[in-house]
Amino acid sequence: MNDTAAPLSASVSTPLFAWWHANARDLPWRFGRTTPWGVLVSEVMSQQTQMSRVVPYWEGWMAVWPDAASLAHASKAEVITAWGRLGYPRRALRLQECARAVADECGDELPRDYDGLTALPGIGDYTASAVLSFAFGERIAVVDTNIRRVLSRLFLGVESRGGAASPAERELANRALPEDAARSVTWNQAVMELGALVCTAKAPACDVCPVAHRCAFLAAGRPGLGERRTRPRQRFQGTDRQVRGIVLDALRKLPGDVRGGNAGAGASLPRVQVERLWKDRAQLDACIASLDEDGLIEIQPDGSLRLPA
Ligand code: SF4
Repeated sequence: MNDTAAPLSASVSTPLFAWWHANARDLPWRFGRTTPWGVLVSEVMSQQTQMSRVVPYWEGWMAVWPDAASLAHASKAEVITAWGRLGYPRRALRLQECARAVADECGDELPRDYDGLTALPGIGDYTASAVLSFAFGERIAVVDTNIRRVLSRLFLGVESRGGAASPAERELANRALPEDAARSVTWNQAVMELGALVCTAKAPACDVCPVAHRCAFLAAGRPGLGERRTRPRQRFQGTDRQVRGIVLDALRKLPGDVRGGNAGAGASLPRVQVERLWKDRAQLDACIASLDEDGLIEIQPDGSLRLPA
């Protein structure tokens, strides 16, 4: 593998970049139209949520909290409410923790280095790399699921494995990265977009792929296509995720939430109404307990629930 990526990246970048310029989705955090903080918010929202679904949430969020300092001062109830149905709402509270650290310790400016970014709450390797590349234009390999899948297929001719990125996959991503910083940013974005729109996990559209002529996976007859999906699709109906979502949704809709202009005022859902939210009481109670543990709700002494202040 060591000698594979560098020469091939040069040979595919021209058609790939042309494809990117013609097909890149016009997302509001792209093309230098937002701040580094706005890029970070988009990356946190896009983890585990499709980018197209993220757009209205990101726009609403940034209109209210355009920077870390403004988010730092919001109430938890406002933050959880604005997160809406993006899913995995703990991300909202982590993002606010991050905002507080940036506002209090970094002068309301995101650090411009990997160590500074990964020292922030909730910021791991992927998000730090994405912010350095997409917001600051630094030369750094971004390794997410889409990029791993595309690079593995294109250069190695095999499906990428599930789980965390392997050292070999990181090395491949580093070796494929163009030397020039500006080109490296385009490369990261274009490979990621190709993975989202064309080289998808289950049904890659090789007939319209701009790099099909150099793709080792296609040349090999697409061996084991989709066999090792990076993450099996999870059933949602009846899961704790669904129940947690139902409880949070009921609390968001209470009169006096942020949308009612009374942010964090603490309207509560009485216990009798809580019990009507889900038939399986044991599951409902377990989910309420886990939401409480995660700091996403508060349980009142009378058993009623509310969003945290
Ligand atoms: S030719 Fe097919 S498998 Fe290869 S990169 Fe393009 S879409 Fe993916």
